[in-house]
Amino acid sequence: MQVERVEVQIAPGFIENCYIISDAPDATGVIVVDPGAQPRKILKALNKRKVDYIVLTHAHYDHIGALSALARKTGAGVVAHALDAEAISNPSIRGITVPHILKKPAPVTWAVEDGDIITVGSGQLRVIHTPGHTIGSMCLYDEAGHILIAGDTLFYGAVGRTDLPTGDATQQCESLCKLAALPDETMVHPGHEEDTSIGRERRYGFLGFVKAV
Ligand SMILES: [Zn+2]
Ligand SMILES: [Zn+2]
Repeated sequence: MQVERVEVQIAPGFIENCYIISDAPDATGVIVVDPGAQPRKILKALNKRKVDYIVLTHAHYDHIGALSALARKTGAGVVAHALDAEAISNPSIRGITVPHILKKPAPVTWAVEDGDIITVGSGQLRVIHTPGHTIGSMCLYDEAGHILIAGDTLFYGAVGRTDLPTGDATQQCESLCKLAALPDETMVHPGHEEDTSIGRERRYGFLGFVKAV
């Protein structure tokens, strides 16, 4: 699977990683993960490719700010975990989104759960429910290609904060245990900052302190 990063600016000095995922460089059907801002920049990177789904790793405003514009332009289905779907469709609840950025939120059309498969061309991304940063946080795992789209659950040398609404430190630890069970060679593409790998985070990061399950 091909993972293209589009860095979008949420605020000065605050960058979020949006990803375009396809099963080949010239693939016509792609998915977009976490369009946080700058819909025009994302559309330019798409270069007229058809978007099958827009997938949100969680409901925070820095991951969904360009959702409504992109959903309108592409007509793509909107995918999120069932437990964050309501906060995405109705951003005024829970206070975990910034409503003025989302005047007309796009409703979630497919509320997924742990183990669901999102098809990308001939490839597959499996949903891993990783609550802790938010209750409906999820990662996307391409087992064949050793790729993990991690949202704000796992970063290079860090893990997602748990002090925001619906965050939970105990759940975050359990979620990191799930990720620690993935193969070392798994490339991790996080919602902010640089890529890492499961092996690196097990050796030098927080995954070295949790027990793989
Ligand atoms: Zn977040
Ligand atoms: Zn974020």
